[in-house]
Amino acid sequence: GYRARSAYKLKQLDDTANLFDDGDTVVDLGAAPGGWLQVAAEKVGPQGKVVGVDLQRIDDLEAHQVSTIPGDMTEEETRDRLRRELGAEGGQGVVDLVVSDMAPNMTGEYELDHARSVHLARIAYETAVEFLKPGGDFVAKVFQGRDLDDLEADMEPSFQYVRRVSPDASRDASSEVYLIGKGYTDAPVAEGD
Ligand code: SAM
Repeated sequence: GYRARSAYKLKQLDDTANLFDDGDTVVDLGAAPGGWLQVAAEKVGPQGKVVGVDLQRIDDLEAHQVSTIPGDMTEEETRDRLRRELGAEGGQGVVDLVVSDMAPNMTGEYELDHARSVHLARIAYETAVEFLKPGGDFVAKVFQGRDLDDLEADMEPSFQYVRRVSPDASRDASSEVYLIGKGYTDAPVAEGD
């Protein structure tokens, strides 16, 4: 079985948006306790590579293709560790898929929880921009609220398209939605004629 029910959300997101391919390199932000890591390891197979990051310790997984980094993604030191793990100190284009299920500690204050979740999604987006190969994909959880449109608009030039998906498995947590950026492109946007 999976370590977290959220595993089924990632499966549904993959069914909807076709995120994984055999042999992919995947970065999973906010990966504890490891449900998404288990799904990602299955989907990329033995030739793939999956790196998970979380504030919380993640118990070792059996899958040899999974490695984990303890740390706060808002801190440069953690991003440095991720660069080293990916062998990407000098450059971009080493990752096929960046997924983020990062969520703030809930205060119950709607605006604050929303703002913090948007901040984490932006950190995830910066990580995607740093590491994705052209054509790579990005997924980030965010709580709905007034800054969601801005975040989506900021992401749009970097991808062929961006969509919002609410997996059935997260219906109970009604305020969460996943932004999916498909087809990373760092090419300049062509002017219309
Ligand atoms: N996808 C995971 C799974 O399937 O097991 C569940 C992730 S849980 C909903 C959200 C996680 O985000 C928590 O474990 C939390 O520690 C992590 N998180 C929140 N802020 C973070 C940050 N700044 N850096 C790293 N991880 C963070």
